[in-house]
Amino acid sequence: MLLSGRHAVVTGGGRGIGRAIAARLRREGARVSILGRDVAALAAACAAGDADAQAACDVTDANAMAQALAQLSEGRPIDIAVANAGAVEAGAFLRSPADRFRRMTEINLIGTVNLFHGALPGMVERGHGRLIAIGSTAGHRGYPHVSAYVAAKHAVIGLVKSLALETARSGVTVNAVSPGYADTDMVASGLDAIVAKTGVTREQALAGMVKDNPLGRLIAPEEVAQAVLYLCGPASGAVTGQSLMINGGEF
Ligand code: NDP
Repeated sequence: MLLSGRHAVVTGGGRGIGRAIAARLRREGARVSILGRDVAALAAACAAGDADAQAACDVTDANAMAQALAQLSEGRPIDIAVANAGAVEAGAFLRSPADRFRRMTEINLIGTVNLFHGALPGMVERGHGRLIAIGSTAGHRGYPHVSAYVAAKHAVIGLVKSLALETARSGVTVNAVSPGYADTDMVASGLDAIVAKTGVTREQALAGMVKDNPLGRLIAPEEVAQAVLYLCGPASGAVTGQSLMINGGEF
């Protein structure tokens, strides 16, 4: 078991990609704590054996994050922190007021910053740690009508690259895992919105969504989780400041 004795914290671990990550790390022997706003979803993930502990936390709230991490790390220092919680809002640029950019930045970037601020000091003290952000292919290329999300995900990749240089000699690696469109609620609601707006069928909407992915399909959350596992494990100690693309080669 690659992660025996390690404690991993995963934000947004109650569903989607976060839950798949929690389950994968737990199967590899880690103790896994999950954070999120939907306590029923968190409890369901724990009851199903995908995580060991939960704490309610809006990741945009630095105080709530500090409290949640203090509660979860009592007697169990955090070795791995996965900033997975995220959200997307679509809208043409001219219909995207500054508040949409603020919201996207708060959840996708500041949520990551809050987790890393809380987890990093203990890692540096112990000379070992793994900080992982779930980025996106949207952190590396543009997409029309989602500029606020794309800008925030580019910022996440910038954070990862810079922080990796600061922590390189402390035993803490900092990386991103950047999926293409993945099979979760986030994409399901995107498809619903396209169908409602354009009148195309769900199959046509899906075909349009995956047309840039050479695999021609959605990414499975477990495929993202497998990449996270690699970056958490002992074999990736020299890998830092990277964004591992899980997107079938889309660019
Ligand atoms: P989902 O919409 O299925 O899940 C989002 C998760 O984020 C939920 O667990 C939710 O928890 C949590 N979350 C959202 N806002 C907050 C908040 N303010 N505080 C705490 N938790 C929050 O999305 P995915 O699983 O698809 O996405 C996970 C990550 O992967 C995101 O960062 C997303 O940007 C990224 N990604 C997704 C892709 C996709 O196609 N699905 C593609 C590329 C990247 P709760 O409801 O408990 O608040």
